[in-house]
Amino acid sequence: MKKFGLIGFPLGHSFSPRIHNKIYEMNNIEASYSMLEIDPARMQRNTFEELTKDFDGLNITIPFKSEILQYLNVINDEVQQIGAANCIKKVQNKWSGFNTDIYGFLYPLSRYIGNIKSCLVVGTGGAAKAVIYAILKHVKPKQLIIAGRMQEKADIIKNTSKKINESIEIITDNINAVNNNLLSMDMVVNATSIGMYPNINESILHERFKLKEGAIVYDLIYNPMETRLLQQAKLNNPGCVAINGLEMLIAQAVKAVELWTEKTISVKTTIEALDISVLKV
Ligand code: NAP
Repeated sequence: MKKFGLIGFPLGHSFSPRIHNKIYEMNNIEASYSMLEIDPARMQRNTFEELTKDFDGLNITIPFKSEILQYLNVINDEVQQIGAANCIKKVQNKWSGFNTDIYGFLYPLSRYIGNIKSCLVVGTGGAAKAVIYAILKHVKPKQLIIAGRMQEKADIIKNTSKKINESIEIITDNINAVNNNLLSMDMVVNATSIGMYPNINESILHERFKLKEGAIVYDLIYNPMETRLLQQAKLNNPGCVAINGLEMLIAQAVKAVELWTEKTISVKTTIEALDISVLKV
């Protein structure tokens, strides 16, 4: 019996156990999935070692995605460049770090990728860094705008991003100015927690924002399933493509289980099998 789980704080309403248990059941994987909620003030090397000693693989969430790197024995290039891991695997008593948010983010975008020439990413946290890496490496637009409430953070990400793909024009902006650029964007990504439960009336954009015809609005939030941002996008721009964070959440979980078990697992079949209604808090 393999032991997997999730480290983070707080973990209150996490959907991960339900998603993971379904993946194990569907793929005949004998495993358990535990929630390891740990106070950030208590997280040190010896706590990490004690906490993880019986585990074969773990997901890592807020606020430990960057801090975890110092306790790992091996990190791949993606994790090194993003500066964050959301999945770790124990092999011969050594921990390796991965970032499956990249795969998760790209999963619902696959059919649109060739048409995305300009992107706006709002947010400068852990998820934004993985999203920006995925965009630079795989979407490859001509232009990328990174916006945050502290433009300095966006500037730091811009500096590391230039090394990932030198041919893309990268501009930084303040979150308050993002409405000005919307009409030229093929894709707008919300990688902040603005609009997430319980603050469901908040949005990164103003009430009646207008998008380019056929533009994609991708909100990484999955609780609620339809954020204020996505509601407004559909209302004001009937031709837009609105994507929430649920497929990303499921796809990154599938990728983690693939890494841990070396099995091939279908994201599509997993999404179809999950009763999405039970994922509502
Ligand atoms: P994080 O590292 O804590 O980053 C949060 C980001 O939101 C930061 O850029 C933060 O700005 C910004 N922010 C928060 N409140 C704000 C406000 N009132 N005004 C302006 N900016 C604000 O968290 P994360 O891991 O990046 O997660 C971000 C979001 O993505 C969350 O909603 C999370 O649920 C979602 N997510 C979804 C998936 C999925 O699988 N669908 C995966 C990962 C994350 P500062 O940096 O200035 O504090």
